[in-house]
Amino acid sequence: MDAPKKPVPEVNPWAKPFWEAAREEKLIIQKCPDCSQHVFYPRLVCPHCFSKNLEWVEASGKGTIYSYTVVMNNSPSAFIDDIPYVVALIKLEEGVQMLSNIVECDLDQLTCDMPVEVTFEKLNDEFTLPKFRPVKA
Ligand SMILES: [Zn+2]
Repeated sequence: MDAPKKPVPEVNPWAKPFWEAAREEKLIIQKCPDCSQHVFYPRLVCPHCFSKNLEWVEASGKGTIYSYTVVMNNSPSAFIDDIPYVVALIKLEEGVQMLSNIVECDLDQLTCDMPVEVTFEKLNDEFTLPKFRPVKA
């Protein structure tokens, strides 16, 4: 029996620009021109001031680990070959948080507040996933 395939993101119409940019290895997030706050995940309306004028801007790709967990075990799934892998909440320089994986990292070196930078992992022709790796000193 073949291992199940990894699920792909479900893309809302208003999130399409995010995934199109990721496919070109660019990390973009929304910014509100009315209150100057950055916004992530993609939305139709600014959660800070309810403006409908959200715009896309390129993020620096730099941030820190806010929190993380190392997945050491799970039931048979498409992710079983990745074990152990890191699921983390990344706080971007722009102030928003993003759930992703930490890659290219010695698991013993992981800490909260560790500086990380975006890297991209091509899943298939349609999806490239933003992931994060430690910033090399
Ligand atoms: Zn706003």
